[in-house]
Amino acid sequence: RIDLNPNYTFDRFIKGPSNEHAYAAAFGSAQKPNDYHNPLYIYGGVGLGKTHLMMAIGNHVKEAYPWLKVKYCPSEIFQSDLIEAMKDKNLAYFRTRYRSVDVFLLDDVQFISKNADFTQEEIFHTFNYFYQNKKQIVISADRPPQALPQLHDRLQSRFQQGLIVDVKSPNFETRIAILKTKAQEANIEVSHDVIKYLATRFTSQVRPMEAALSILQFTSQQEKRPIDLQMAKMSLKALPQENGIHQITIEDILRVVSRTLHVDEKLIMGSNRTEQVALARHVCMYLAKSLIKGATLSYIAGAFGKRDHTTVLHADQKVRELLDTDAALQMQIDEMVEELKF
Ligand code: ADP
Ligand code: MG
Repeated sequence: RIDLNPNYTFDRFIKGPSNEHAYAAAFGSAQKPNDYHNPLYIYGGVGLGKTHLMMAIGNHVKEAYPWLKVKYCPSEIFQSDLIEAMKDKNLAYFRTRYRSVDVFLLDDVQFISKNADFTQEEIFHTFNYFYQNKKQIVISADRPPQALPQLHDRLQSRFQQGLIVDVKSPNFETRIAILKTKAQEANIEVSHDVIKYLATRFTSQVRPMEAALSILQFTSQQEKRPIDLQMAKMSLKALPQENGIHQITIEDILRVVSRTLHVDEKLIMGSNRTEQVALARHVCMYLAKSLIKGATLSYIAGAFGKRDHTTVLHADQKVRELLDTDAALQMQIDEMVEELKF
């Protein structure tokens, strides 16, 4: 029902340090479908190219191996198809349809809800079917499997069996490259200083860059001349100012806390309770709570593999108490906040 977007190909995907691992893994599984890491699990924030990479796998497979069947499916569609099939008592047909493919691309599994036991069950069996028949499964989500508390344990562990790669926000050079390519593809004439302006203004996601470019294209057509910096600034004035509030991620926090407090990231993510590790974990949650816009307590708890959102409240409270008495920690945290914000 949902087609692959033919524009989402590997050669239209711009590589950089933030995504080259994910690119290589996706390309690997497209070249050797059914003979690669299974499953391939790609995770990362909104608009960083997960769907693009998944569809690139699909497009590549269809071209290189025309006899293989590819199915791309957002998780919500899987879920609604399943509900429909159950209503119509057509589960057998549902299974035939879903299992008759060779490469299965399941997008955005974070949308599978906690209470949808039946969906989770069906995904589990579908997964096993593909896995046992050595058919390629590619899964995407906004977080690693262990940070999706709504997923049943056995699905989490299945998703962890293969190769896990992430896509992060692109750095400045990559943003420049993305903007240049997108401008070229859309036939928009923009000077390098406009590209540079856009790359400093849009720092975390690709979609707003695309949106800005199409506004510029429109302006340029209206004014019947190429865009210069002045025009660019004018016509993008109304867009939300993204610069300076780049989205801080759990990964950023983990990295900075690990380095500053000298605790291995794996230990922080684990369940070790020695004092230094527990402190680092609490500091991570404290920072996540105050720095990640819109993050709910259960999101943060989930990101650290905890099921109970009060864990985050407890950690936050603990760190605040410590801050009252521990000047050294106070300084370290100030430094970390500075580093994360810029
Ligand atoms: P996600 O699925 O991670 O939310 P998408 O794959 O839908 O993100 O990407 C959002 C938009 O940004 C798409 O138009 C996609 O083509 C583009 N995009 C994201 N990353 C890249 C990249 N590295 N190179 C080229 N285009 C990209
Ligand atoms: Mg997507």
